[in-house]
Amino acid sequence: MRRVVASVMVMALELCLGTARADNRPVPKGPDEDGTKPALVKIAGEGMMDSHAFQYLTELSDDIGARVTGSPSERKAEEWGVGKMKAMGLENVHKEKYQLWRGWTRGTAQGELLLPVRRPLHVDAMGWTGSTPAGGAEGEVVAANLFDIEEEAKHTSRLSGKIVLVVMKGAPKKDVDSLFAIYGDFLKAASKAGAVAVIGGQGGSKAVGMNLTHTGILGFDADFAMPVLSLTAEDQGQLERYVENGKKVRVRFNVQNTFTSGPVESANVVGEIRGRENPEQVLVVGAHLDSWDLSEGTTDNGTGSASVLASAEAIVRSGMKPRRTIRFVLFTGEEQGLDGSFAYMKQHQSEMANHLGNLVLDNGQGPVREFQLGGRDDLVASFQPFAQSLSSIRNIGVTDKVESGTDTLPFSMAGLPGINMDQDSPEYKFTHHSAADALEAVNRDVLAQNATLMALAAYWIADRPERFASPWPVEKTVKMLRAQHQDEMLKAFGLWSREFAEAEKKEEAPK
Ligand SMILES: [Zn+2]
Repeated sequence: MRRVVASVMVMALELCLGTARADNRPVPKGPDEDGTKPALVKIAGEGMMDSHAFQYLTELSDDIGARVTGSPSERKAEEWGVGKMKAMGLENVHKEKYQLWRGWTRGTAQGELLLPVRRPLHVDAMGWTGSTPAGGAEGEVVAANLFDIEEEAKHTSRLSGKIVLVVMKGAPKKDVDSLFAIYGDFLKAASKAGAVAVIGGQGGSKAVGMNLTHTGILGFDADFAMPVLSLTAEDQGQLERYVENGKKVRVRFNVQNTFTSGPVESANVVGEIRGRENPEQVLVVGAHLDSWDLSEGTTDNGTGSASVLASAEAIVRSGMKPRRTIRFVLFTGEEQGLDGSFAYMKQHQSEMANHLGNLVLDNGQGPVREFQLGGRDDLVASFQPFAQSLSSIRNIGVTDKVESGTDTLPFSMAGLPGINMDQDSPEYKFTHHSAADALEAVNRDVLAQNATLMALAAYWIADRPERFASPWPVEKTVKMLRAQHQDEMLKAFGLWSREFAEAEKKEEAPK
C-alpha cells in the first residue's frame, strides 16, 4: 500500500559501524562473537546456491496472477502458500481467517476526451471505487488543488455534475502522509456534492511512467460509490494544460465495478520453525501475498512473498534450529489497509509480550539497502554488528525509521520493532500497482540475495543469546510515534487508539 509520494523522499543513509562507543556500555556483539556465525554461514550457502525464490515468484505471478484480497485468485494463493510451507517442512502450517469489511471486483473502464479535441483516454479505476451509470456519464472537467485540499473539501457545491481533476499547485500545506487521509475526506465531500468522477490516484497522486495507470486503495478500509480514476500521466497532463489555459474541457467515462456486500473472508498463511530453547518467543517474518489487479502483482508483493518462502526454506535446509521461534506469515489484505497484519495483532494479542518484532520486505524489486527498525532506536547499536557481518554480500544501513506503508506498522504501533527491509528500487515507481508489475521487472539474482538476507536477519534475531527486543510500554511508543511524525497520519486515518490518546495527554500534561 506504500505511498509512492512519501517513498521518493530521500533518507540519510546511516552507515555508522565503528566499534568505539562514547558511553561505557559494552560494545554489542555480532555473529563473530555471539555464536550465531556457523549457522548463518550454512543458511547463506543454502539461500544463495540453491534458491527457489524465482521459481516461487514465477508460479505466483504466472500461475496464480493478480490476487485482490477476498477474490478467488487470492484464496487460491493462500492454498498455494500452505502447500509450499508444508512441502518445505515448516511446522504448524495453517491459515488464520479474518474478515474484510466488503469485497470489490474490477469491471471495465473507458474514457474519452470530447472537448476541445476528441480522442480516447487511458483510464483505470482505483480500488474499492464505484461505477458511472450504465452506458457512462460525461461532464465538464474542473480542477481541485491537492495542496489546498482541506479548503477544497469545504467548497464542493461547484463540483456537482462535474468531473474533478486533481492538480498540484503551489506548495503542500500539510505533510504528504496526512494529505493521503485528507484526500479521502475530500472524495467523500465531492461524492456527496454530486461529482460524476474524480481523476486522481492514491493520495491524489498523478501516474508515473510512460502510458501507465496506477490503481490502489484510497484510505484504510475506504470505499467510494463514486468512480475515482487513474489516468496516464500523458492524458492527465493534457487535461491539466487545457484547464490551466481556460479551455472548456469535456470528458466521458464509462466505468463499471462491483462491490460485494461484506464481510468477505480472507486469511493469513502461517508456518513456523519452532525455537529450540524458547519456542514461546516469536519473531514474525512476513510479506503480503495479496496484490492489485492490473498485472501479476510480481513486485508488490510477489517478491516479498517469494522471499519469505525462500528464506524459510534456506533455514530449514541448513538443518539449524534457532533458539526462538521464527513464524513465517504471508499476510493478505495489506493493500486494503494492512488488514491482515492488524488481524494478526488482534488474534495474537495474548502472546504479544512474547513477540520480538517482525521483519518485512515490501519495497519492490531492488536490492535491500537498509534495515529500518520501526521506531526502536534502542536496537540500532545491537543490530549494526550484524549488518556489518553482511558486508561481503552487500553494504546495508541501519536506522530506526518507522515504515507506515506496509505490515511493519501494526508492530511498530505495538512498541515492537516492525523492521522494514528497505530496497533500492528506482523502477518501483513504475511497477507499483500498474500494468507493468510483472515478472519482467525482477532479476533472479537480486531476489535470491534479498531472500538470503531475510533468512540471515531472521535467524540472527531469533538465535542470538540475548533476547533481541520486547514490546515498549504504550507511553514510550506514543512518544516515538510522535517523534517520527506518524501521529498526524494515524489520527487522520482514525488509527490513534484511545490508549494512545490517553498516553499522549499524560505526556503533554505539565509535570
Ligand atoms: Zn506492497
